[in-house]
Amino acid sequence: MSSLKSQVSSLSFEIVACEGEARAALISTRRGVIETPVFMPVGTVGTVKGIRFEELESPDLGAQIILGNTYHLWLRPGIEVIKASGGLHKFIGWDRAMLTDSGGFQVWSLGKLRKISEEGTEFRSHIDGALCFLSPEISMQVQAALGAEIAMAFDECAPGEATHDDARRSMELTLRWAKRSKEAFERYRTAGGSQRVDVEKPVPPETAVDPLATASGSVPTSNLRHNQALFGIIQGASHLDLRRESLERTVEINFDGYAIGGLSVGEAKPVMLEVIEDIAPRIPADKPRYLMGVGTPQDLIEAVARGVDMFDCVLPTRNGRTGQAFTSRGKLNVKNARFTNDQRPLDESCRCSVCRRHSRSFIRHLYLAGEMLAAILLTHHNLAFFLDTMRGVRQAIRSGQFAKFRREFTEQLSSGFE
Ligand SMILES: [Zn+2]
Repeated sequence: MSSLKSQVSSLSFEIVACEGEARAALISTRRGVIETPVFMPVGTVGTVKGIRFEELESPDLGAQIILGNTYHLWLRPGIEVIKASGGLHKFIGWDRAMLTDSGGFQVWSLGKLRKISEEGTEFRSHIDGALCFLSPEISMQVQAALGAEIAMAFDECAPGEATHDDARRSMELTLRWAKRSKEAFERYRTAGGSQRVDVEKPVPPETAVDPLATASGSVPTSNLRHNQALFGIIQGASHLDLRRESLERTVEINFDGYAIGGLSVGEAKPVMLEVIEDIAPRIPADKPRYLMGVGTPQDLIEAVARGVDMFDCVLPTRNGRTGQAFTSRGKLNVKNARFTNDQRPLDESCRCSVCRRHSRSFIRHLYLAGEMLAAILLTHHNLAFFLDTMRGVRQAIRSGQFAKFRREFTEQLSSGFE
């Protein structure tokens, strides 16, 4: 079983340095090597909002991998459009690695608009109200068509403050869905093992499958992109016994990596850190550990200290659109009148192109004038700050200086603005 797995494995993981629980590692994918710990900017509908791909690739930012959202892309533009372009990478014009989520969390966030059953989740599209259905099998089909290097198992998320009973029910469902996700994924992988799909020569659209049309039927295998990896997701809300059980039973299914899901969904921050501290080091050491949807640069550093390798979060882009900059001295809100005549850059310690060129005064003016450039500049700086912080984290772990880095980062952050 393990030899079969290594033959078709699409991802290798090599730890190059450790300090305490913190690890610096290399994830090799068919589209290059990703150095971890890594922050992955979120490209919801095929775009990291407010920033061009050239900027993501520039040394200023140096994004190694970005996210795509299965739910959003499935609804619009739809899988047929993306397949006709030859997959998500070609469609959006991005050659580096990608990870697609399963759609589970997005559908969960629809709240009352969704209905969960054993088979999957029925929901109303947020675009036109149409009735849609997403299941582990459909999610795998859609993610196979998108063709990201890393796909995620279809899961259900319990609220942060879910009772033990509710969290158990949700965790058990997630485990059953994880098995179904893995089985569907393996059917694709095995079927295509002898005819590996070259990412440069996408399967013609006429051989494509329609996930909607085959929702309850057999799983077509004609268009599968090989060398995709599949990660399992650990749930269990804030209940450590459930989290541990979820971890153990998810590992039994055997994934290429493991994510901690269902955090930062309403629970208190100490609770989140407690779960990470307990669970991350128990994830098999030879697999990537991914903390989903978290958080601030400080959260990232604290999670790295507890053994996490991969992160994604909408904060740098979302907050960039609402006038907020993340800086080495905390959050700066350009709406604040104190910045009216402030000639300093957003962050005096930042060397990004925005901070080298523009003042707080100017960016505040742009924001108040409703200019789109305000969001563009803030998003650029915020992503640069997140990505540069992670670069610093990697260098610190490799040189045995992570404890010092973490202490100094925290001290500077709490010193605030003068
Ligand atoms: Zn900057």
